[in-house]
Amino acid sequence: MGSKKQPQQSTPPKQKTPTFLLELPLAVEAGQAARLRGHLEAGRQFYNAVLSEGQRRLRRMKADPAWQAARAIPRTHTQERRAAFSALREQYGFSEYAFHELARELRVSWLAEHLDAVLAQTLATRAYQALNRVCVGQARRVRFKSRGRGLSSIENKRNDTGLRFVVQTQDEGRRQGYLLWHDDQLEALIDWDDPVVTHGLSQRIKYARLLRRRASSPRAQGADREGERYFVQLILAGVPHHKPKHITGTDTVGLDLGPASIAIVPREAEVRLEPLCAELRPDARAIRRLQRRMDRQRRAANPEHYDNKGRVKKRGKGAPRWKQSRGYQATRRRKAARERKLAAHRKSLHGRLVHQIVAMGHTVITEKISYKGWQKRYGRSVGLRAPGMLIDHLRRTVASTGGTLHEVPTRSTKLSQYCHGCGKTVKKPLWQRWHHCACGIGPVQRDLYSAFLAAFLDPAEPLPSCAQYVVPWEGAEARLRAAHERVKERANEGQVLPQSMGIPRAGARLPESRSEPTQEPAFPLRRGRLEAWKERENLRGLSPGSIQGTTSY
Ligand SMILES: [Zn+2]
Repeated sequence: MGSKKQPQQSTPPKQKTPTFLLELPLAVEAGQAARLRGHLEAGRQFYNAVLSEGQRRLRRMKADPAWQAARAIPRTHTQERRAAFSALREQYGFSEYAFHELARELRVSWLAEHLDAVLAQTLATRAYQALNRVCVGQARRVRFKSRGRGLSSIENKRNDTGLRFVVQTQDEGRRQGYLLWHDDQLEALIDWDDPVVTHGLSQRIKYARLLRRRASSPRAQGADREGERYFVQLILAGVPHHKPKHITGTDTVGLDLGPASIAIVPREAEVRLEPLCAELRPDARAIRRLQRRMDRQRRAANPEHYDNKGRVKKRGKGAPRWKQSRGYQATRRRKAARERKLAAHRKSLHGRLVHQIVAMGHTVITEKISYKGWQKRYGRSVGLRAPGMLIDHLRRTVASTGGTLHEVPTRSTKLSQYCHGCGKTVKKPLWQRWHHCACGIGPVQRDLYSAFLAAFLDPAEPLPSCAQYVVPWEGAEARLRAAHERVKERANEGQVLPQSMGIPRAGARLPESRSEPTQEPAFPLRRGRLEAWKERENLRGLSPGSIQGTTSY
């Protein structure tokens, strides 16, 4: 079937209508919870059965000599390669369609009582997508759903039969929403005064998704006896509610996003250099503490799994299972709850930043960054602050205000290397936080300078050599300096800032006064800090103009 299509015309097959989500908690009684658990357990076993058969098909397909032959076809022969792979997929039944067939065969006897055909189909699609990631090399293996963790969500494709959400008007004219599944009506807790909720419920519901989340403890609010909470996610047609307090600017904004910081340079208004999601630090620290505690608890419960140096032993096939103590399970629940809290906190921080950017302007220009590469390079920091999610959020919000986010390719723009004064591109090492060129431009903090270059790019032809920088620079230079001055003030106030911002590390953690009482012997322990302090004292005396471009801090 792939051979019929022209590979150049691989536009999405059908125009998708915009979609957004609304999540509502469900009030679930004990009897209902028991039935939900039964349905979800059937779903879990069904999912595992599809996954297992799918995995068998994938293995057999990859073992076929024709698979190696198909891989050997050069990538330039797009058509031929595609035809070879799709013939193999057809032969071994490895396609979404074939998985739906498989779902039909597997949904028999007692499973059929728990799962309607459409729900079985969406589970089969999920299993196919997981295996397809392995097939195309995006993942190494698939994960079967264990009995302990269970299936945490199940969804329909439509909202007219099976699992579905309805809003009913009661006698007194009060409206109430219910998730219907089999014979159960699960009441949704709806705040009708919340404009986000009322807007969402006035849209067409495409389909509903039931979510089960583990609460931090069985005593947590809204949790059932097993410590589980249920939610409904409505997949709605249209665009999310736009809060009127959010104003939209008309400026053009250049962004430079780093793994831990962001530089925001509008063409006209005030410039900002900010740490990214600094407020998440305490959450992240608490999660790491819980993680260490889990490690200790697991170690205490499973001494036989460690050698005498405390390393985990290599495990053979028949090795004993890992034991999970009650304490370990409790810590794991607390950690999961903390992680969800962190994710919600991050989302609100992203939202705030996005609205601040959109308030400046609805045309945003930034370099497209490889978040995968960042993940490899900066791991934990990127995982915590999720700059990729921030950009996704920004893209959606900018689009909903009628503006555009332009992501220009880094490879061609090289904003972090460019100098508009002489037009040269010079690669800066990572430690060099300043742009200071022999042609007289700078010194200016490099992220701010990149964002400035981005702000004045022509989105139609995003090359710095094509942009006109000389006149804007006169107006922007002072604004960029002012932004960095504010960063320095915050560092002096004791705020911890990312190194990339060009503030000497030790300086960012100075005590408020030099006479601060200390219990440790001052000199041997604080030596490094004192030395760094001295350097900083010297720096303070210098005007920004006298800092050399090669200064290494
Ligand atoms: Zn230059």
